[in-house]
Amino acid sequence: RAKESGRNSHHFFNEDMGQQAGEHLRLRSGLRRALEQGELQLHYQPQFDLRSGALVGAEALLRWQHPEQGLIAPARFIPVAEESGLIVPIGAWVIEEVCRQGRTWLDAGHPPLLLAVNLSAVQFKRGDLEDTLRRALQHSGLPAHQLELELTESLLLHNTHAMLDLVRRLKRMGVKLAIDDFGTGYSSLSYLKRFEVDKLKIDQTFVRDLLTDPDDAAIVRAIIQMAASLGLRTVAEGVETAAVAERIAALGCDEAQGYHYARPMPAAAFTDFLQRTAKIRPNSS
Ligand code: C2E
Ligand code: MG
Ligand code: MG
Ligand code: MG
Repeated sequence: RAKESGRNSHHFFNEDMGQQAGEHLRLRSGLRRALEQGELQLHYQPQFDLRSGALVGAEALLRWQHPEQGLIAPARFIPVAEESGLIVPIGAWVIEEVCRQGRTWLDAGHPPLLLAVNLSAVQFKRGDLEDTLRRALQHSGLPAHQLELELTESLLLHNTHAMLDLVRRLKRMGVKLAIDDFGTGYSSLSYLKRFEVDKLKIDQTFVRDLLTDPDDAAIVRAIIQMAASLGLRTVAEGVETAAVAERIAALGCDEAQGYHYARPMPAAAFTDFLQRTAKIRPNSS
């Protein structure tokens, strides 16, 4: 009996692995086509200043409009893109597209927004990131201070001279630096200073349960206080309710982003959003 089920689970295990490898291969060849055929799109999610209520920025989030499978979320294809190295040309496309779009909004007379792009560690190690950024800024004419790079804490742990040097050169170009999903990794305070970080994005797992989980509340409070004393801005990610929005504002968080305000939306919808002069009610607490 035990032997039989053991053999069965072995059988299923192999089949499952085969399926995963097949899916991986399909995604990988599909991604190459996606990039060439223009199936990749960016959605933009607004970020608001909690004191003034003003719209101050937007995060660009990658989507894959697959001809048969519909919209595919980044969690499914970014890992494949990273393993195959395709994240380098895909990431370059993202940077070009965000700069172009940012310039288009400026030219249409909208107030300058800080546009954030997510970067993968692979782009730092293998890509020609500095040239890619310089070219995109030059082509578009978007001011460098309107572009923000979102990195993860793990990247700062590659505390090599080359990495530090690259990040400093990027900072000298004038772009901003944010640490994404902050609080989930291990970055030390000295790294934040050394890499000239501008902003911490407090991870949504802490923000979500802020009102019910005292540990999460303590973590969020500590991050905000630490950031303030280091002169860094804070953004709360994943704000889904008015109650959480009020609490993070009361804790002194600078900015917020989440479904409570707006979901990520295609560029055209974001343009409509801009035209309705988007502003949230300032939190006067
Ligand atoms: P992230 O950078 O931490 O982005 C925030 C994620 O949270 C996005 O998921 C966003 O849609 C989602 N989100 C925003 N507000 C809320 C909320 O109130 N509640 C909840 N539950 N979720 C919210 P998305 O778009 O699926 O992206 C997932 C991750 O994929 C991103 O996490 C980022 O790490 C990665 N990613 C997205 N676009 C790119 C890209 O262009 N390049 C790279 N390298 N990674 C990307
Ligand atoms: Mg991000
Ligand atoms: Mg995040
Ligand atoms: Mg993330």
